[in-house]
Amino acid sequence: MLSEVAKWLSIDLHIHTGASPCANLEMSPWNIVRMAQLENLDLIAITDHNTAANADAVMKIGRKLGLTVLAGMEVQTQEEVHLLAVFPELDAALAFEEFIWGHLPDVPNRPEFFGEQALYNMEDCIVGKIERLLLQSVALGVEDVGNSIIGFGGLVIAAHINRRAYSLISQLGFVPRGLLLHAVEVDRHYSHAKFNDEYRFLREYPVLQNSDAHELSHLVNGPKCRAYMGAPCFTDLKELLLAKDLKRIRIG
Ligand SMILES: [Zn+2]
Ligand SMILES: [Zn+2]
Repeated sequence: MLSEVAKWLSIDLHIHTGASPCANLEMSPWNIVRMAQLENLDLIAITDHNTAANADAVMKIGRKLGLTVLAGMEVQTQEEVHLLAVFPELDAALAFEEFIWGHLPDVPNRPEFFGEQALYNMEDCIVGKIERLLLQSVALGVEDVGNSIIGFGGLVIAAHINRRAYSLISQLGFVPRGLLLHAVEVDRHYSHAKFNDEYRFLREYPVLQNSDAHELSHLVNGPKCRAYMGAPCFTDLKELLLAKDLKRIRIG
């Protein structure tokens, strides 16, 4: 139920750290949290490709500096669809990561080609790297990935559905019957008006606009997805998305 103290909050549920090979190494825990605060974000989620390895460090810095950080992941399914998962707590994200890695081919990363996959500590130092290549599909279809996210207690969001690649619509063209989506995401260059024009068949879903930040500049003057919700926390985020009240989310 919506709390009586609900207010408009700024949320960004799609942010990469330097663990993602395509992200800049400046995407460290302190840099992300401080930049999110400078941009007046109230709630963020860390969603690296097929890993939640840096979520712990960013969440701890968030707690220290007063920003709510949720642990998530951007999973690439066998159809090359990107699905965002956002979890209620770190343990669920790490358990989900273990499950996903059971279906992620054991191919080594080639940093000179794909980029580094860096692990950070709480002092913002790079303390290791992920050896297995993260930028590849898991051997699971969209419905299996979506159901698994829900099985681990998470929220399922179809990432950047307006893109010509790696989106549910570019790869499949429709929402499969067995895929429960809590929301769909448009990328930071898209407008709500355009969404209503081009994706009428998706209008039943809450629409989020996240930065998909791979470098700090993507957070600067980034999209401001405003959500009318109680506290900046997973419980109220879930309530918001399940309510499907389109008037409670503003994008663009
Ligand atoms: Zn993506
Ligand atoms: Zn992404």
